[in-house]
Amino acid sequence: MPETDVLVVGAGPAGLLLGAELALAGVRTTIAERHPARLPYCRGFNLNSRALDLLARRGLAEGLVAEGHRVPNAPATGLPGPLLLDGAATDHPFSLGIPQTRVEEVLEARARELGAEILRGHELRSFTQDDDGVTASLHNGLTIRARYLAGCDGSRSTVRKQAGIGFPGMDARWYALLGDVECDLPYGPTAGPDGRTVFVIPRPGYVRIVVREDAPPPDKDTPVTLELLQAQVDAVLGRHVELRNPRWLSRFGDAARLASRYREGRVLLAGDAAHIHPPAGAIGVNVALDDAFNLGWKLAAAVRGTAPEGLLDTYHAERHAAGARILANTRAQVALEEADAAEPWADLLRRVATHPAGNRVLAEIITGLDTCYEPGEHPWLGRLAPDVPLTVDGRQTHLAALLHAGRPVLLDLSGSLEGWPAAVRASGPSDLDVAAVLLRPDGHVAWVGLPGAGDAGLAEAMRRWAVPAPA
Ligand SMILES: Cc1cc2nc3c(=O)[nH]c(=O)nc-3n(C[C@H](O)[C@H](O)[C@H](O)COP(=O)(O)OP(=O)(O)OC[C@H]3O[C@@H](n4cnc5c(N)ncnc54)[C@H](O)[C@@H]3O)c2cc1C
Repeated sequence: MPETDVLVVGAGPAGLLLGAELALAGVRTTIAERHPARLPYCRGFNLNSRALDLLARRGLAEGLVAEGHRVPNAPATGLPGPLLLDGAATDHPFSLGIPQTRVEEVLEARARELGAEILRGHELRSFTQDDDGVTASLHNGLTIRARYLAGCDGSRSTVRKQAGIGFPGMDARWYALLGDVECDLPYGPTAGPDGRTVFVIPRPGYVRIVVREDAPPPDKDTPVTLELLQAQVDAVLGRHVELRNPRWLSRFGDAARLASRYREGRVLLAGDAAHIHPPAGAIGVNVALDDAFNLGWKLAAAVRGTAPEGLLDTYHAERHAAGARILANTRAQVALEEADAAEPWADLLRRVATHPAGNRVLAEIITGLDTCYEPGEHPWLGRLAPDVPLTVDGRQTHLAALLHAGRPVLLDLSGSLEGWPAAVRASGPSDLDVAAVLLRPDGHVAWVGLPGAGDAGLAEAMRRWAVPAPA
C-alpha cells in the first residue's frame, strides 16, 4: 500500500497551496484530484490584498502581480462606491485581476517543484482513521495510507461528510444563472422594464452573464442549458438578445454554511470544504489560500512530531472563527444589497462607507486584512507583520523575505536579545516602536518586544509557536 505523510484531497487553490507548504517543510505529500486535467473554465478572477500579503511571505506574489491587472479597490457588494485600499493595513493596496486557473498553475508548479506528488484522475471514495493514521480508498481501487488526511475537496466535500463533520447554516434563498458566452450587451448591469437586471462582466474574449432565476429551481443540480439562460435573459430584458458560443454554464446561490469542526482526529478541512458563503466580495479563493497557509506549517510540525502542545488545534480555533466572520460579512453585504434605502442599519453602513476612515475599515474587514489571531497590547500582536525594509548583516532585505523558508523568525531590532542565539539581528526603519518580534511561519506576530522590556514573555511565546527546524 503506498504510504505518505499527508494525503491532500483536491487540487484547487486550498489543496495546492497546502501541498506546497507541506512539501516546503519537508513532509511527504500526495495530492489526489479527481479530474484528470484542470477544467477549461475559470470560476474566480481575483486575488485580494490579504491573499497577496500571504503569498508574498513565500515569494509568490511578485510574479502574479507582474502578470495581473491592479484595481485600487476591494470588491464588495451593496455598498456605495468602491472600498479604497489606499492606507489600508496591507503591503498590496490593490486587488489583482488574475484568473483562478493561473493561480492554481503557479501553485501546482511550486508544489511539484518542492516534491509533492500530484495524482490527477484519482477520486477519493472513502477512508477510515485509527490512532496512527488514515487509510483512504480511491475510485480506481488504489488504497493510500497517510498519517493525516486534508479535505480540500470543495463545497460538497466527501472528506467532510465521511468524517461526520456537520455543515450547519442556511440554504440558498435565491439562485443565479451564470453563462460564459458572447453577446452584444454592454458591460455592467442592463435593466429590463420591471427593474430586474442582467449583469455582464468582461472576460478575455468573452463575457460572463449573471441573471437571477425567478424562483429556486426544483433541483439545483439540473444542468443549466443555453436555452434556459437565453430564456431568462430575454424574460428579464423584455427583448431578445442573442447569447452565443457558451463556454461554461452554471448556477450559484447565496447558501452560507460553516463546518462545525475543522479537525476530526487526523482529518482536517480547508477552503470550500470548510465553508460556503454568498458570492459577495469575491473572497472564496482568497479564504481557501488563507486556510491552507494557516494549516500548512502546523500540520507539518504535527507530522514531524515537533508541534508544541495544542498547535494543530489552533488551526480550528483561528480559521473557524475567521470563517464565521466571512459568512457574517458576505451575508451582510447581500442583505445590504437587498435592503430598502430607508432601512436604518443600511443607511448607517452606507454612510460609514462614504467616510474615508469607515471606508478603509470596511475594506479591511471584507478582505480579511483585519485578521488578528491573538490581539494584545501592541497593534502588531496577532496580526500579519508589515513587510518593512530591513538590513541584515549589512544586506538590504525586507521582512517578508525572511519568511520565504517557512520557518519562524525571531527578529532582534535593537540588540535586546543577546541570550537568544536563533535571533536574526537586523535594523529597520527608525520609526518602528518595536525592539524585537517573533514571527510565526505564516508571518503573524506571536510576540513583540517593546523598547526597554528585554525578552519578557518571549520564552512562553517560543514554547507555543516556534516550531523547530527539520533535522
Ligand atoms: C461562479 C463563481 C465565481 C467565483 N468567483 C470568485 C472570485 O472572483 N474570487 C474568489 O476569490 N473566489 C471566487 N469563487 C469561489 C472560488 O472559486 C472557490 O471558493 C475556490 O475555488 C475554493 O477553493 P478550494 O480549493 O477550497 O476548492 P475547489 O476550487 O472547489 O477545489 C476542490 C477540488 O477538489 C476536487 N475534488 C472534489 N472531490 C474530490 C474527491 N472525492 N477526490 C478527489 N478530488 C476531489 C475537485 O475536483 C476540485 O478540483 C467563485 C465561485 C464561483 C462558483
